[in-house]
Order: sequence, then structure tokens, then C-alpha cells
Amino acid sequence: MNVFEKDIISKQSFMTFKELGLQDNILKAVAEKGYTKPSLIQEKAIPQILQGKDILASAQTGTGKTAGFTLPMLQKLEATKHPKYRPIRALILTPTRELAAQIYDNILAYSKYLDIRTAVIFGGVKPAKQISAINRGIDILVATPGRLLDLEGQNKLSLKRVEFLVLDEADRMLDMGFQRDINKILALLPKNRQNLLFSATFSKEIKKLANGFLTNPIMVESEPENSTVDKITQKIIRTDKSKKTDLIIKLIKDGDWQQVLVFTRTKHGANRLVKKMISKGVQAAAIHGNKSQGARTKALAGFKDGSVRVLVATDIAARGLDIPLLPHVINFELPNIAEDYVHRIGRTGRAGANGEAISLVSSDELEYVRSIEKLLGDKLKMEIIQDFEPSKITPDNEKPVTKDQRQAKQKQFRQRRDKRKSPQGKATSNASQKKRSYSKNRNTNR
Ligand code: AMP
Repeated sequence: MNVFEKDIISKQSFMTFKELGLQDNILKAVAEKGYTKPSLIQEKAIPQILQGKDILASAQTGTGKTAGFTLPMLQKLEATKHPKYRPIRALILTPTRELAAQIYDNILAYSKYLDIRTAVIFGGVKPAKQISAINRGIDILVATPGRLLDLEGQNKLSLKRVEFLVLDEADRMLDMGFQRDINKILALLPKNRQNLLFSATFSKEIKKLANGFLTNPIMVESEPENSTVDKITQKIIRTDKSKKTDLIIKLIKDGDWQQVLVFTRTKHGANRLVKKMISKGVQAAAIHGNKSQGARTKALAGFKDGSVRVLVATDIAARGLDIPLLPHVINFELPNIAEDYVHRIGRTGRAGANGEAISLVSSDELEYVRSIEKLLGDKLKMEIIQDFEPSKITPDNEKPVTKDQRQAKQKQFRQRRDKRKSPQGKATSNASQKKRSYSKNRNTNR
């Protein structure tokens, strides 16, 4: 059992998969996957989906959500399938190719004892194989929005018989700009269908999207995110931007960490870091949107089998990846969206497992620390490591002050001081004194 599975089990109910209403040929496949009990999201979602309800679920990767929507869907599709004619009856939309491939693999495993056919389509690879898989007749299609619209536009597939729609990681789809594609796809589907929407966060946009196509949805929640965060050891190491690369390599080597997930803010940053790590003898690979599908799959496989020690990822690429929970997650740079911090560190050990999330923070990132602390409602522990101390208190991106600049500043200061001494200056200072006494009165009046 890996760290991840332990975590799932700690959040399980007392019910069994059988008690949720699943049939033997599905139970058999689930048992073969090694799942002994349903996760919380599975316990809540499966009976509702079996009853035909629309679902609005707050759940991210790691909660068991894929089986949560797939198992009941398979059962319903199996019960109603047409023996010969196989139109696409279930459509699962995902933001990334990796997530699409993962869901596809899971569906194959869960439908092992059923007569159900599935295909997966996404961009970045030639469509020929995908088209011939569809032509053979499929019940379920897992797709990213762009490739789906491409093939539909070329009449390579039809969505006219879709009975189930799953929107997975809906928040990330909107972040990635898929809103218009989603609207176009919705317009291609029959009105009468069951809809399941999964999202890690619930912004105004997600609620609007949900209102637009869900009918009387049942709200299903996995564990609230913040209680997950509480179980992770988090710390900040203050340093300079220019010292981060050496520092991260030192941390990984000294700690003898074998599987580390590192987040950078940009694709370029990820590439640079990987290059540097490899040159220092640390096996690393990058995963981000500019990498070809082959390179991404290879990096992920290497990371899972241990041949790649460090996986450097950007937020979008990392979201939805089924990576087992890891002992170490490092933020090489902090994200500028505080919620992304929570998603990132959610990748490390939970429920008592030894998970540590470390953020390397330079002066220009201190404002991000403040918004993250606000979201968490807690202060983050700060540490400084010998030889990697931050050299400046001012932001790193501020240029060093030269002699000329210093003299110009002193001149400015003198001019301002002289101005304050002039009659006009006195008037200003009187006004500000009045202001001060006003606010003092306001305060005492409160
Ligand atoms: P997901 O959140 O759907 O991406 O699932 C994450 C991981 O949890 C996958 O590796 C699944 O194989 C695993 N998993 C799903 N359901 C269970 C369960 N009931 N017990 C143990 N592992 C599970």
C-alpha cells in the first residue's frame, strides 16, 4: 500500500461498495484494483448517480473521484446498451491530456468485466488512431475540448446520443480558457441527459456554468481542503532568487530525498531548473504545456518508477496528475494565486504520513506569502539556511543603489525638506495636523 492509498482509506466510510448498489461484475474489478472500501466522495456520489441525479461535486485529484463517477455510470450504461449499434453515450471532458489518459486507464480497469468500450482523444498527437478507435464503436469517450471540437467539426464523431456528461476539473478548464469550447460542446449535446460536474474550487464563474446546465443538482463534497492542509508540515526558507537553484539541490542531496515534486511559475523556469539539476547529477524532468505528449508521458512514468528523482512542474500541468502523495513538495517559486499554493501542497503526505511542503521565498515574493497566510488563516514558519541567507531586505528585483543614485536621492530629500520649511509647506503641514487631530477624535468617539 502506498502513502496515497493509506490516505484514501483514512477518509473512508463504514459502508461497502456492494452496499452502495454496485453489481458483481463491477465489484470484482474494483476488488482487483485493491480498493477495500469506498472513499467519502464515492460513498456520497455513487448512490445519487445510480438514481439518475445531476451532481455538483467539490473534489480534487486524490479523493477517488474518478471511480466515484465512473462506477455508477458504467452500471447504467451496461444496463441500457444497444447490442449492436454503439453511439457515444457518455462524454467525459477534462482540461489536460494527462488527466484524460488517466481517466481512460481507470475506466478500462473498472469495465474489465463489462461489455463497454471506451476511447480517449486529446491534442498533441495525430488523430488517425483516435478516429479509428471511435469508428470501431464506443460507449464512452474521454476527451479534451479542443480535439473533441476538431473531430466533431470534421464529422468524425457524433454527440447526438450522449446520455451522460462529466465535466472534470471544471475550474481548471475555465482557468485554461475553455469556457467558449464548453459552451459549443454543450450546444451539440441532446437536452435530456445526466450531468456531473467536478471542481476543486467554486468561483462565481463555476457557479454560473453549473447553473447553466445542471438540473436540481445534488451537492457532494469531499473533505474540505483546509483540514488537509492542517496535516502538512509547511515552512518557508527565505533566500535570494539567485541562490535558489543551489539551495534546492543542496536540500535534495543533503536530505537524500528520492521523489520530489517541484513547482515553478513558468515553463522556462522549469526547463532551466531541470538543466541545472541534471548538470549537478540530480535526475530531473520537466512537465508543462510546451512539452510534447511523449515527453510528458515519459517524465511522469520516470517519476513514478523512481528513475526520475525530481519532477519540475507548472501549476496547470500538475493539476489532475495521479501522482502518489509524496514526502516532499517544494515551491521553487510561490504561485501568485493563493489557492494554487493549497493545491500544490495537497500533493504531499496527508493523514499522518510525513509530508513536508517547503517554499523558497525571495524578497519579491513576500506579498504572496501574506495572501497565502490570509487564506490559510495561519502564519507560515520561516527559516534561513546558513550560506543561503537573503542578502537584502528590499525586493530582489530592485537594482543595487549606485553612488550617483544615492547622491540624487540625498538631493531630493534636501529639496523636500526645504520645501516643507517654506510658507506653502507650513500650510500643508497645518492641514495634515488638522487631519491627524480629526482622526484622533474619530477614534476616541468610537
Ligand atoms: P482520483 O482522485 O480519482 O484521481 O483517484 C486517485 C487514486 O485513488 C487512484 O490511484 C485510484 O486508483 C485510487 N482510488 C480510488 N478509489 C479508491 C478506493 N476506494 N480505495 C483506494 N484507492 C482508491
